[in-house]
Amino acid sequence: MGRKLLLKDINVPGIKSFEVYRKMGGYASVEKALKTMTPDSVMEEVKKSGLRGRGGAGFPTGMKWSFLDRKSDKPRYLICNADESEPGTFKDRFLMEYLPHALIEGMIVSSFALGANTSYIYMRGEFRWIFPILEKAIEEARAAGFLGNNMLGTDYSLELYVHSGGGAYICGEETAQIESLEGKRGNPRNKPPFPAVVGLYGCPTVVNNVESIATVPHILNMGGDEYAKIGIGKSTGTKLISASGHINKPGVYEIELGLPVEEFIYSDEYCGGIWKGRKMKACVPGGSSVPILPTELMLKTAKGEPRLMSYESLSDGGFATGSMLGSGGFIVFDETACIVRNTWTYARFYHHESCGQCSPCREGTGWMEKVLHRIETGHGKMSDIDLLVDVAKKIEGNTICPLGDAAAWPVAAAVRHFREEFEYHVRYPEKVKDPKHFEKEP
Ligand code: NAD
Ligand code: SF4
Repeated sequence: MGRKLLLKDINVPGIKSFEVYRKMGGYASVEKALKTMTPDSVMEEVKKSGLRGRGGAGFPTGMKWSFLDRKSDKPRYLICNADESEPGTFKDRFLMEYLPHALIEGMIVSSFALGANTSYIYMRGEFRWIFPILEKAIEEARAAGFLGNNMLGTDYSLELYVHSGGGAYICGEETAQIESLEGKRGNPRNKPPFPAVVGLYGCPTVVNNVESIATVPHILNMGGDEYAKIGIGKSTGTKLISASGHINKPGVYEIELGLPVEEFIYSDEYCGGIWKGRKMKACVPGGSSVPILPTELMLKTAKGEPRLMSYESLSDGGFATGSMLGSGGFIVFDETACIVRNTWTYARFYHHESCGQCSPCREGTGWMEKVLHRIETGHGKMSDIDLLVDVAKKIEGNTICPLGDAAAWPVAAAVRHFREEFEYHVRYPEKVKDPKHFEKEP
């Protein structure tokens, strides 16, 4: 069995309640931090741990915290980004629903480290049923003295609020999230300035993902150096992976970073292999924004080394032969899946979710959707395939926020690795008019 931290108590009956969570050692990190540590020493442990942001970008959490403008006399804020909307990603939802106190505990120690006295959990609008779960956990923590004024008899005070978004994917982008929390339309801002300097209400703000925040108590309990021994190289610790698609055992798994991809897909401890005795055709390892890879490149790097579940190994070879760990949304496709149809589905999503501020994203996502639709439905031309690549190139790097890149990369990668499948759609229009065409012709 691989090392478990976040999910070690997931099967303990009643773990959602404060009482059981506390009995299992919960909130020990809050006592340790508030009674025996300073905010700087908490931050130091997080830096030593090498924890990288679990929302998708993998930016070092301790470094992000250290960017917070501490000279400013304005209030500082911590926002937990719980707007998990990346297709294929559902691990934050799982954490909040089944281990709400893990997030509340993480919010308290992280807020203490940052000197924040008001913090927010910005939750995806569609997660309505999780709202009362978090509210209840907050009330239980408050009743036990872990929130409110002079917590645990110290001079530290914290108020924690859950804010529900309206269900827009773009509000997962940190600056759009800040705008939305301020009551405005969720349009991303230009960066710099980064939120660490100019964030919520113009004040220094850190925005961290749910899983990153829920990991902080484990780092404090075991010490940053010990945490850094888990994992591989600069990919330290454990990571939650949302596994879906054509596998025998879809679900949320905690892995130690560095686990071989092949073991993750085929071992019974994790995905349990490809369903219906079929072969794997491709995989998107980090949520819909990252490049798709064909099986051979998913299991081995271009150098012939086993591909590992780590930030470095999954991106080895750049986008020519690699992908990204991203948010850990691991989507597996069997040999019957139609890559063109899947790429069109992603393109529709990004077109729908584009906020429309920058023309390469607003117009480009629309064009990619249209061109992919006509190829998929048997109305495409050979020149459409290069047109897709051209539009993707024009979006990449030319937009305010990463949604543009996220829309462009999957399209470019699908054409790069599965061009023959796009050509098949153009050559045999009659065959692809049936939406289940590839299922019939593996
Ligand atoms: P990013 O690389 O722009 O930023 C990463 C973080 O580091 C941000 O918080 C940013 O403020 C901070 N940062 C970077 N440089 C800094 C500097 N010089 N000073 C201060 N702070 C700095 O990426 P991002 O926009 O935060 O995230 C993009 C990723 O989000 C994508 O790769 C995608 O995988 C992921 N994503 C996840 C979901 C989800 O549901 N989990 C949804 C959409 C996208
Ligand atoms: Fe909006 Fe797209 Fe520009 Fe992001 S890249 S700001 S989503 S138009």
